[in-house]
Amino acid sequence: MTPRCSWMWRRARCMLLGRSRSAATGRCLGAERTLTSTSHPPKICIVGSGPAGFYTAQHLLKHTQAVVDIYEKLPVPFGLVRFGVAPDHPEVKNVINTFTQTAHSERCCFIGNVTVGRDVTVEELRKAYDAIVLSYGAEDKRELEIPGEELPGVYSARDFVGWYNGLPDNRHLSPDLGSETAVILGQGNVALDIARILLSPLELLKKTDITQSALEAISHSRVKRVWLIGRRGPLQVAFTIKELREMIHLPGTRPINDPSDFYGLGDIVKDLPRPRKRLTELLVKSALEKPKERDCSHLAQSDREWGLRFFRKPVAVLLSEDGKRAAGVRLSVTRLEGVGDTAVAVPTGQVEEIRCGLILSSIGYKSVPISPVVPFRPNKGVIPNSMGRVQGTPGLYCSGWVKRGPTGVITTTMADSFDTAQALLEDIKSGALPLSEPRPGSSAIRELLLLRGIQTVSFSDWEKIDAVEVARGAEVGKPREKISDSEEMMRLICR
Ligand code: FAD
Repeated sequence: MTPRCSWMWRRARCMLLGRSRSAATGRCLGAERTLTSTSHPPKICIVGSGPAGFYTAQHLLKHTQAVVDIYEKLPVPFGLVRFGVAPDHPEVKNVINTFTQTAHSERCCFIGNVTVGRDVTVEELRKAYDAIVLSYGAEDKRELEIPGEELPGVYSARDFVGWYNGLPDNRHLSPDLGSETAVILGQGNVALDIARILLSPLELLKKTDITQSALEAISHSRVKRVWLIGRRGPLQVAFTIKELREMIHLPGTRPINDPSDFYGLGDIVKDLPRPRKRLTELLVKSALEKPKERDCSHLAQSDREWGLRFFRKPVAVLLSEDGKRAAGVRLSVTRLEGVGDTAVAVPTGQVEEIRCGLILSSIGYKSVPISPVVPFRPNKGVIPNSMGRVQGTPGLYCSGWVKRGPTGVITTTMADSFDTAQALLEDIKSGALPLSEPRPGSSAIRELLLLRGIQTVSFSDWEKIDAVEVARGAEVGKPREKISDSEEMMRLICR
């Protein structure tokens, strides 16, 4: 018997005996959970362990008897906090401390390495639990739908971000950074994250949790200029002021925006709503004001640059002469119809081209349907719901990006997850969610998974992986060295 097999066998016995976690910690005992004052504590399962999953669990645990299991398809928790948030934003990742506290609750259990919809179905979960909350995010990318987007040299932001953040699916991406000019299609925070990572001095990146392989590739990068392309104008950019400020002050780089894009905006600014007003003021200032003397020498020494190109819609990726890869992008020049956030870009008939060997499409993420029994709106990429209650499906709830679409920061996700959890708790209280029949919860699902040969990962297993990552990082002066190979993770927890 191989070590892996013997480990699985030991774990299998534990599962069948209902001892799914360490007897020493006493946590997360599946079938053995202690009941308190009533005999039917609500058993709830959450699908997805990103911010939506953990914030929903945190609020649900306010019910003094609720038992909450979080199923996650990866062997590690935290979703985009680990695999999306930029490595040079460690302060954003502090939410992990709150999520860890939730996971340590005696009534909460993390069950990783289980893909709902493949390893176990939503219908099976519905039989095992009183309620299900779908919090599985927006994992897919939106397509550009232009000729040439499949060419080598074109990458989705989702894959590129996953690559530098150690997402197992993207560990072999190996993007070609041999071009001096990179074009990012999109003007949101993710686009600015990517521009910053491409242009940051190596000494800064070395101190972050960016993967070693990404660091190595970036150390050989020839990218010196990054264009961020938007279909609409400066009043419609989707990034926020913090990210813009970081970009403006990035050491060794200078902005190369076209002042004519900003003429006349000074007069409009005073009437804009507050966040947009401050953002536009900064944009105008950085494009039109003469830099202070002390900044002049810094800017003159900068050998890397970035700029925003407005009123340009990508229409095709250009092919290199040898016909093998991307060599540029063709843009249709646009003008706006309407004003403000709802203004629409319409083509003027004029086109222009930018030559570049690296094209990153950052036009958003997309949720995918999880099961035929769960309603889904493909055009909006969301599960239709009212306050998190899935339409026409009692007992089914949703939170996070799959509930409201792939926009908003972690605090937005927190608020909507609390709303969903509150709706569920109110349904328990009002009797709209009947708890008449006791449910088996995780014990039934673990049996199914065992029969299907699925090796689950507990939160304490994750803590072993975490400890190894932190130790490896310490050796090279980083907060952690992420393990991006799922099999290596599984081997670590088998030891
Ligand atoms: P996710 O975080 O995507 O979590 C979904 C989880 O579900 C994942 O762990 C996934 O593996 C799991 N899952 C998917 N399918 C299944 C399945 N079938 N079965 C089981 N599990 C499944 N916000 C900020 O506040 N600050 C930032 O700096 C910031 N940076 C960002 C950078 C990027 C590149 C992106 C894309 C977003 C960023 N955000 C940031 C936004 C923030 O990450 C989101 O608001 C938040 O992660 C959405 O939470 P979620 O739980 O809905 O989705």
